[in-house]
Amino acid sequence: MKTLNVAVIGAGPAGIYASDILSKSKLDVSIDLFERLPAPYGLVRYGVAPDHPRIKAIIDALYNTLKRGDIHFYGNINIGSDVTLDELREYYDAIIIATGADADADLNIPGVDLPESYGAADFVSWYDGHPDYPRTWPLQAKEIAVFGVGNVALDVARVLAKHAEDMMVTEIPDNVAEGLKNNPVTDVHVFGRRGPAQVKFTPMELRELGHVPDVDIIVYPEDFDYDVASEKAIEDSKMTKQVVDQLTNWVFQEPEELTASRRIHIHMLQQPVEILGDEHVEGVRMERMALQGDGSVKGTGEMIDYPVQAVYRAIGYASSPIDGAPFDGKKKVVPNVAGRVMRGEEIITGLYATGWIKRGPVGLIGSTKSDARETIDCIVEDAEAGLLAAKGSGNGFEGLRVLLDERSTRYTTWQGWELLEAFEKELGAQRGRTRVKVVERETMTAVSRGEDHDGKLY
Ligand SMILES: Cc1cc2nc3c(=O)[nH]c(=O)nc-3n(C[C@H](O)[C@H](O)[C@H](O)COP(=O)(O)OP(=O)(O)OC[C@H]3O[C@@H](n4cnc5c(N)ncnc54)[C@H](O)[C@@H]3O)c2cc1C
Repeated sequence: MKTLNVAVIGAGPAGIYASDILSKSKLDVSIDLFERLPAPYGLVRYGVAPDHPRIKAIIDALYNTLKRGDIHFYGNINIGSDVTLDELREYYDAIIIATGADADADLNIPGVDLPESYGAADFVSWYDGHPDYPRTWPLQAKEIAVFGVGNVALDVARVLAKHAEDMMVTEIPDNVAEGLKNNPVTDVHVFGRRGPAQVKFTPMELRELGHVPDVDIIVYPEDFDYDVASEKAIEDSKMTKQVVDQLTNWVFQEPEELTASRRIHIHMLQQPVEILGDEHVEGVRMERMALQGDGSVKGTGEMIDYPVQAVYRAIGYASSPIDGAPFDGKKKVVPNVAGRVMRGEEIITGLYATGWIKRGPVGLIGSTKSDARETIDCIVEDAEAGLLAAKGSGNGFEGLRVLLDERSTRYTTWQGWELLEAFEKELGAQRGRTRVKVVERETMTAVSRGEDHDGKLY
């Protein structure tokens, strides 16, 4: 059997794990990993908060996988615009879509389009130095609402509430460091629509909030309600119990313990119904919710207004479609069965999906590994059944390179990433930090390609 040429689109954890598992399968394969940015690692680099170095260290494991050299990284190539999916199919016998998620889920309430109503994904992309997002962020609000009770909501609340000097040990870019210094915030209100037994925080991330210097955590006794399903959830899940215990501990804080200059308030059983204000955000209107016995909630009609000057919506991420691939606009995933991409009822032979684009934007980095295994099992099965063949020459990057050169696409390589990484570490050393990220795409590209550049960092 000839060597199978496989293209993987997206160098986030899902794409890297899928490439790794495929490279260790019984197939004779050549794997090319395409990434639209000059940097690999997806949301581990551009989503995980910069003050979570332990999670960022997953990058070391991903680095070791790519460093081996049997998976070929090509950066700064957007599949869909630089090269179409159809073109890719000319050169590759199988294609895995691992493009993850980069946008915010919609929230349809009045006032959501006011200028200070922000999506968490945009804010995260700013503080993590994503090259395709604005370089400045308007941190002007003293009181802020964050909608959502998952770890992303906690990240957003923590980064907003933390004093800038407590972020400086991390890899944040210079423009973000500068932006955070002038943050006038005093109170961040995090809102969840269900009860303490239903919040989606993980215990470690919640506990961490309690250790942020000069930030108090405040919870409200009236938000602590439990129905039958809540009691059962606490009994059945150690994690739920730990989360509820942590939240409950904060109820018993003495007033004299609360001396910090900034506060994170965690409110539960409240759902946003309107963002208030004519031209600017002036407040949020929340409806008190009641548990229904099965863990679900229903509005009580009681409204509570909070004065805030900015709103961050952390109610979930959403994937974007790839030109030429089917997309379920409702679920925001590429429709698939166990990783085999479907158009209607038909399987598209040779096209696969993995990671957040496959099953939606939930789950930690680790879960993209089991996901990838399922997808690769399908590829192995299809290859062994003799189903996989490119539409054209099938000669992988050898053929594609000609097309990229014709279009003067300034793609980058693994060696290029090593150059950029060394450049970022050198910047960090100059500032007494491990690394300082380069945000400017042109500089990222030029450094990676060994070209002249003006050193613009953001
Ligand atoms: C704010 C935030 C914080 C998180 N924190 C944690 C945490 O602390 N711990 C944890 O375990 N998990 C965390 N997660 C979850 C974790 O990031 C995801 O589980 C994981 O990144 C999903 O992997 P993925 O590869 O499917 O998607 P992604 O990480 O999104 O990777 C997709 C890659 O595809 C690329 N791409 C997209 N479109 C194209 C295209 N057209 N052409 C070429 N390339 C393309 C993107 O640039 C990206 O590099 C967090 C997620 C978010 C959003």
